[in-house]
Order: sequence, then C-alpha cells, then structure tokens
Amino acid sequence: MENNLRELKGLGAKTEQLFHKLGLYSVRDLLYFYPAAYEEYEEPGQVCQVMEGKQCVIRARLGSGVSLTSGKTKAVVSTVLQDSSGRLDAVWFNMGYLRSRLRPGREYIFRGRASRKNGRLVIEQAQVYDPAEYEPLKGKLLPVYHLTKGLSNKTVRRMVTQALDSAFFPDDPLPEDTRLRLGLVSLRTALCQLHFPSDADSRQKARQRLVFDEFFSFILAVRICRRMGEEAENHFPLKLSWTTERIINRLPFSLTKAQQNVWHDIERNLCGSRLMARLVQGDVGSGKTILAFLAMALTAENGYQAALMAPTQVLARQHFEAFTTFVQSQGLTFLHPVLLTGSMKQKEKNEALRAIAEGEANCIIGTHALIRKEISFKALALAITDEQHRFGVRQRQALSSSQAFPHVLVMSATPIPRTLGLILYGDLDISVVDEMPADRIPIKNCLVGTAWRPNAYRFIQKQLEEGHQAYVICPLVEESEGLEAENVMDYSEKLREFFPENIHIRPLHGRMKDEEKNEVMQSFSQGQTDILVSTTVVEVGVNVPNATVMLIENAERFGLAQLHQLRGRVGRGKYQSYCIFIQGKEDEETSARLKLLAGSNDGFYLAGEDLRLRGPGDFFGLRQSGELLFSLADIYQDSDILSLAGREADFILKEDPLLTAPGHTAFRQLVDHQLEGQLERMEL
Ligand code: ADP
Ligand code: MG
Repeated sequence: MENNLRELKGLGAKTEQLFHKLGLYSVRDLLYFYPAAYEEYEEPGQVCQVMEGKQCVIRARLGSGVSLTSGKTKAVVSTVLQDSSGRLDAVWFNMGYLRSRLRPGREYIFRGRASRKNGRLVIEQAQVYDPAEYEPLKGKLLPVYHLTKGLSNKTVRRMVTQALDSAFFPDDPLPEDTRLRLGLVSLRTALCQLHFPSDADSRQKARQRLVFDEFFSFILAVRICRRMGEEAENHFPLKLSWTTERIINRLPFSLTKAQQNVWHDIERNLCGSRLMARLVQGDVGSGKTILAFLAMALTAENGYQAALMAPTQVLARQHFEAFTTFVQSQGLTFLHPVLLTGSMKQKEKNEALRAIAEGEANCIIGTHALIRKEISFKALALAITDEQHRFGVRQRQALSSSQAFPHVLVMSATPIPRTLGLILYGDLDISVVDEMPADRIPIKNCLVGTAWRPNAYRFIQKQLEEGHQAYVICPLVEESEGLEAENVMDYSEKLREFFPENIHIRPLHGRMKDEEKNEVMQSFSQGQTDILVSTTVVEVGVNVPNATVMLIENAERFGLAQLHQLRGRVGRGKYQSYCIFIQGKEDEETSARLKLLAGSNDGFYLAGEDLRLRGPGDFFGLRQSGELLFSLADIYQDSDILSLAGREADFILKEDPLLTAPGHTAFRQLVDHQLEGQLERMEL
C-alpha cells in the first residue's frame, strides 16, 4: 500500500500516527475519507428564533457592557445580545480576549448552541463574526470528520485541502464523454465538493458521482467474476455422502423446512457438473451458519479443503469456536479445523499456513487474511463468505490465482429487495432461508426519547439479575469535535456510574487492537462481561444467545436495515428478548421510520419500506465501520444510481466481457481499487 501521507506539508510523524489510527495511510485514503457531517453557515436569524439545544446563528447587537469575571479555574465573559425581537444572555469560558474584542452597541453574527440555565436561555461559547466576515461563509458547508483524540477537525481539513490539490490526485476513471452522457460531475469536482461543498446541491451532485463509482465498479467486478467462474471448468465435482444426513439427524435441533431446502440447493450444486456460485440470503437468526458447516463437512469428506471467511476478527473467532464444538460434539474426526486471522502471532500463523499448504487442515476459518498472497491451499474446493453481500469476487480471484476455481457460497443477512438484487448480482443463483426456527420468541421493541434512559437502565439491570447480558450501541467511538452523538468511551463510564460495581461493563470498537477486541468479545460470550458497549462492529453475525437486551442510542443515525441487523444480535436463544431504540433527535420523519422498525421484526419487509420511505439524499448519517459493502452508497437510498450503474456496466461488458480492451484499463483499475479498499475496511 502507498504510504505517502508524509508528502503533505505540515504532516509530521505524530499526526501520521493519528491518521493511521483512523485507517488512513495514503493521500488517496485521505481523499476518500468522507466527512461524517457538515457544519452549516446559515442565514443569520433573530434572537426570538433561538431554541434550546439547537445550533443557531443570529445577528444581534451587544445590549450591555461586557463583563469579565475570573472564576477559580476559568475566566467567564458574559454579555447580553439583543435585536428588535428580544434579548438573550451570552457567555464564554476561557476566552477572556473577547472582552476587548466585543464592542458594546456594535452588531455581530453569533453562532452557537443555546441551553437553559436557571430557567433562562443562554448561548454558550458562540463563535463571533463581524457581519462582513460572515458574508462569504454564508450558505457554506464545512466538513466534520470522525476524529481521534489529539487530532482536530482543523488539521484534517487542512490536510484534505492539500490532498485535493496534490500531485497524488487520482485520474478520473470515467472518460469525459461517458461521464457527460450519464450526467455525472468529474472525479475532481466530486471529491472537492464532497469535502468542501459550495452548497447543498453541489454536495448532492458530488455524492451521486462517488456513489456511481462504487456501484459501477462493484457490478463490473461481480459480472466479470461470474463470467470467469462460468467459463472455468469444475475441477471439484463432489460425491454425495450420508455423513451430512447423519450430522443433521444428530443436531440438537431439527432444521427448518427452509434450511432443508437451501441445504439441498447447495448439495445439488456441489455435487453437480458446474461450479457453484450461490448467494444464501436469510434474515438474522434464520440459521445460516449450520448450512455453511454442512457444506464444509461435505467438501472435507471428499478429500478437499473448504474455507469460511468472515468480515471481522470477532466473527471469525466465533465461527471457529462454534465449528470446533460442532466437530467435537458430533465426533467428526475427519474434520480438521484451523483458524487464520491477521492478528495471530507469527508463529501460530506460520503453523496454520503450513497445515493449510500441506492439506492437513481441511476446514479453514478466518478473516480476509485468508486471501493474502502468502497463503497457498493444497486443494481448495469451496470458498464461503459470511455476512457480506458482495459476491466473492476478490476471493475467487485471489484464492484461485494459482489453482482451479473453487465453488463459491456467499451468505448474507442483508435483505436486498429482489429488483435491486438482480442489478447487483445479475444472474447469480440465490437461495432464501425464509423461515425462523420454531422455538424463537419474537423480540419486543420499544422506541423512546432520551428522558427514558433511567428506566431503560433499570430494565437492563433486572435482566442482568436474571443472569442475562445486554448490548448498548453508540454511533461514535470517542468524543469527536462537531459530531453530536453518544460515544462508546464516555457512555461506558456513564453506565459504570449508574450500575453497581459488580456489573462488568466493557467497551468495544473497531479502532481497538485486534487482541483486545478478541479478548473483550470472548469475555462477553463467556458471560464475564455483562454489558457490552459497542459501535456497530457487533452488527454482523455475532451470536451470544444469553444476551437479551439491545439498547441503541441515537437510533435516528442508522438506516432501518442496519438497525434491524443490530437488533438481530438478541433473540437468538430461547429467552424473551428486548430491543430499546433511543431517539436522540426527534423529527417527524425519523420518528416515522423508527416506528416502523418497532412495529415489525421482518427484515425483508423493512428493507422494502426503507426503500420507499427514504427519498434521495435525505440520509447522510454517521457512517461507521459496520457498513461493509460500500462506503458512501446505500442500495436503498440510491436505487436510481444503482440502476444507472447496472445499465452502464451491461452496456460496456456486452462489447468487452472481461474488460481487456485497451480503452477499458481505467475501468479495470476502478474495479481493482474499489475492491482493494473494501478489503482493507473489512479487516476490522
Ligand atoms: P444467522 O442466520 O443470523 O447467521 P445463526 O446461524 O447464527 O443465524 O443461528 C442463530 C442461532 O440459531 C444459533 O444459535 C443456531 O445454533 C440456532 N439455530 C440454527 N438453526 C436452528 C433450528 N433449526 N432450530 C433451532 N435453532 C437453530
Ligand atoms: Mg450469521
């Protein structure tokens, strides 16, 4: 990977480390580090329009003198602002210099947040502008980034500005005529305007272009790989065996009708004359994992290797443990599982790599470390990817670079409506596990405001007293200047104050070291941690049946489909489970969306509604590492662009099915680059 951040002026070793913490290593990474939100410089309003708790911009006169009192620890500057509509108190802490800057009677623009102190509205720490100074800012949107301690928005903005202007700016992969025909802005305009929009409309156009790129490269890649798979010979026709039947009969539960059907699809594929390329969709908790295990067992019994890839370390480890238990409890001595993740010690890794290369290990479970170059399989016949809806494109490429193509199975809980699925995956075979195990008790939901928190905590405590565990989800990792949402670090502290000492509370997020992440997850799944406070890292696949409460802070920040995924972490066992959505910001639209969610536990229904409810462009939430497929695009919100990208991809591939024409090198690169990026993001 390019490591050229230091080429930027004023970026020293210390800042570089901070950027690394955010997963940014190159100028390109920085260009694609999209803002999490924007600061708006609105048209100034009047004093009477100021509302409690809301960011506001007002034009007002100083209605009194400016006083400076020195408290014990900080200097306090206070004054009164007024216009024809009313008066408002203003205070600043630790900004003593303002006293000499602010002139009584003069007019300024104040930008800040008002809160209520002793019954009166007060605007605190407002930014102050001379009207002439504010004029050019008006209507502008300034980017607000996800930050880490020690890094300020100002620094990131400065570095992004430089990056936009630097020699490392990537070429536009879309030829100008194509781009104009599709009505898209150039890559340069798109990246400049996404970071520093001149107005909301330009930002929208910028976003459209980048979303197009994401869809377009994805669809191209899927189509190409599908084609390569079709043309490839099936070197691994497996023989049916009775072992899987025996395994099924000995399971502690009986398979649902839907599981049986999908298993038969898979079995038929594996034992057929052509290579399998199948997507298995099934709502969270529908029991997809066991299907993967069965497929692995069948493959191994035929003398080949099978690999199961998960998008996160946490999930890979969990699968490995579940698989090991499965092997032991069923006495399946012919199965030799091995774990491989990026965070393992070199010695362990070498041992795993050796066992894989020599064929001693026949069931390989891991993260995308599995498709790194150093790994070579003896006879890989089946590659399974769990919890991602991108078809195993890259896997197929990487896994098969030196050998024959394996069968590919992709498992996803993301309910993609059929129409969109067809565009994304073309003619990929799809099976749906459309039935829940019979012993499931439906999750009880409630949607509440922040004032209800103490009740929620007391409710959690009761569940803990009954021996259960709880998840709490926050959108942010740590406090981040300019972003208003709960964060995992501070929230954990807050909960520690509320709950008695014997309740073990631990934070989990994607920026933690892998070993630490594993250890936290381990401790939660073994019941040593009672409350797990996490970002959306736990969104995918985590299975701790003893957890019965899911509390989601700032539920308005997430899309319906994502919330549904999060909720799927509970209700996985035989206990009644609960999901509490806390709405941090109330407006009619988000309330309507969240009410839908509280009213239904059906993922496919919700995905359809998500699509119907969200108009283009009305969702620009705080994206977190939980989102695996695209970084900006949203299949529901951007379905129009998805169709456009699908048509364009088909158009190009009709002439040049494998993108080998010289004029198409840029597309090829686009495909490679985007997949590379996804891979990086995936190793959470
Ligand atoms: P997902 O489809 O979300 O990946 P999992 O495969 O993790 O779901 O299954 C969720 C839980 O349901 C697991 O604890 C699993 O053992 C259990 N399970 C799977 N199939 C059945 C079944 N037919 N009856 C009862 N429990 C099942
Ligand atoms: Mg799963």
